Amino acid sequence: MDDVALVREKLDLVALIGETVGLKRAGKNFKGLCPFHSEKSPSFMVSPERQIWHCFGCQKGGDCFSFVMEQEHIEFVEALRFLAKRAGVELQQSPIATGIAAKKDRLYEANKLAVEFYHYLLLEHKSGAKARDYLNERKMGDKIWQTFKLGFAPDQREALTNYLIKRKHFKLEELLDAGLSTSTRTGVIDFFWNRLMFPLYDHRDNVVGFAGRLLTASDSGPKYINTKETLIYHKGQTFFAIQATKDNLRKANQAILVEGEFDALTCFQAGITNVLAVKGTALTELQVTLLGRYVNKVTMCFDGDRAGQEAIKRSIPLLEKKNVQTTVVIIPEGKDPDEAIKNNESGFKQALKHDIPAYDYLFEQSLAGQDISSALGKKNVVDSFLPVAAAIENLVVREHYLKKLSNALNTSYDNLTREIERISRHQQTQEGVLAKSAKPSRQEVLEEYLVSLIVQHEDPKTAIEQVADALSSALDKDRAYQKIIFHLLEFINTIQRGVFDHKTFLHHLPEELTLVYNKSLLFPLPKLTPEAYLAEIHKTATQLKEMYLRERIQQLGKQIKLKEIANEIEEVEKLEAESGALAKQLQGISSK
Ligand code: ZN
Repeated sequence: MDDVALVREKLDLVALIGETVGLKRAGKNFKGLCPFHSEKSPSFMVSPERQIWHCFGCQKGGDCFSFVMEQEHIEFVEALRFLAKRAGVELQQSPIATGIAAKKDRLYEANKLAVEFYHYLLLEHKSGAKARDYLNERKMGDKIWQTFKLGFAPDQREALTNYLIKRKHFKLEELLDAGLSTSTRTGVIDFFWNRLMFPLYDHRDNVVGFAGRLLTASDSGPKYINTKETLIYHKGQTFFAIQATKDNLRKANQAILVEGEFDALTCFQAGITNVLAVKGTALTELQVTLLGRYVNKVTMCFDGDRAGQEAIKRSIPLLEKKNVQTTVVIIPEGKDPDEAIKNNESGFKQALKHDIPAYDYLFEQSLAGQDISSALGKKNVVDSFLPVAAAIENLVVREHYLKKLSNALNTSYDNLTREIERISRHQQTQEGVLAKSAKPSRQEVLEEYLVSLIVQHEDPKTAIEQVADALSSALDKDRAYQKIIFHLLEFINTIQRGVFDHKTFLHHLPEELTLVYNKSLLFPLPKLTPEAYLAEIHKTATQLKEMYLRERIQQLGKQIKLKEIANEIEEVEKLEAESGALAKQLQGISSK
């Protein structure tokens, strides 16, 4: 058995997906909310028996490898390594990454070596003395240095570049691509120097970049700089501290979000170990998706300044959309969590316990600074809070806030609901336009349903026999499901008395139909008794036959007209005979 098959065999797809997607049993399969598109009712299905998944909303699907590739945005080789490690499979052939994956591998490696280089300088080297002093002064214990692999970039322009090229045989180009080095007029130099270094990891423990902080305000340059965007570092997808705190996030089912690196370190040292730093801006959709895989609750503990408050306001709708419960902490005694903990640790922990629901926070914010006795003041409050309320999906919660607003402004509740309806209607028409364009025809819907009924039947052979009569002559072979029905009919002739086996059938099926076939194995079916199940198959096949016949008769009608115009009498007679025979068949169905 090769590596890929072995990994697939050893892994439990339901457990793998279940770690990040809430799955519920649905007959033979499991279903949940799709992690790849936004939805309110579950259309994401997983088959434990077949070890495949499919989403009937966004039409993505596949096996364990494609799931990880899709979720992590990685190449096949990376997914194979990741899953092999998880399954405890030692890869026989070390997978050779090619193209992008190979390039990423080199960048990860360069960053990993850079972490070790900077970390060594901080711990051991004489040039790191001032960084050691600085961390001691900020009361950061050794454990923090180790856990977060803090480092020091020395005050030399080429220390890391030289080390990686001369000792580790990297190419200059690779170091530029990794963002570790930079081109200047005088040549290539280190990107970071004379800075305290914070490695940035992704959630799979790869080092993807760094943040570097000046030690003293008198040093030149901005206080913080980050690795620029590279093939592996994307600011909007990263959290500082995730490699150290991800297990704690899961355990606590809550993430405390702070802005800066030191906020995260100070929290961690104070025992608040489910912390992540977002690095100063509003959350992105990708960050929210990542959070949703670890926790159900996010508590934002951003700076009290305008930028921090703006970031909270912009992040809340994204979190709410992903069904992540969101709260906000008002920081007592200090401009940020780092300062607040130093001033009064227990006071800060109390504040964390008294976190405010996000909507309450936004409500207070929209009232702040407005003169609500004036018409203009009222309008400002409504303009800022009503779109927030309109986005609340739970109607009870929405009503709660609308009543609160109506009381605060001394405005009628009806007026507010009318306004909100206007906003919702506007949003719905926009969504409606998108939804219409991709709607399948009634025939296609029935074909999908029929194939699903057949292949999910406990004895697919018996199930196909139900449709042979109706469909063997009437079936076209234009669409994927029609082709599958055709192949199913053909296949049962070859197995005769044997048993239908999905694996054997898949060998028989052209490869381009595999995905569609797998999809039909996961299609959500209604609960039916054994008799009703077979009757349903028969009924659906008959409905389809009727549709095919009507369509064919219509087409013949058009051809007949054309031939009449061309005065090809013989042809006309032939087509009319054909059409008459079909009409008879159709009558036969209707009279049954
Ligand atoms: Zn989906």
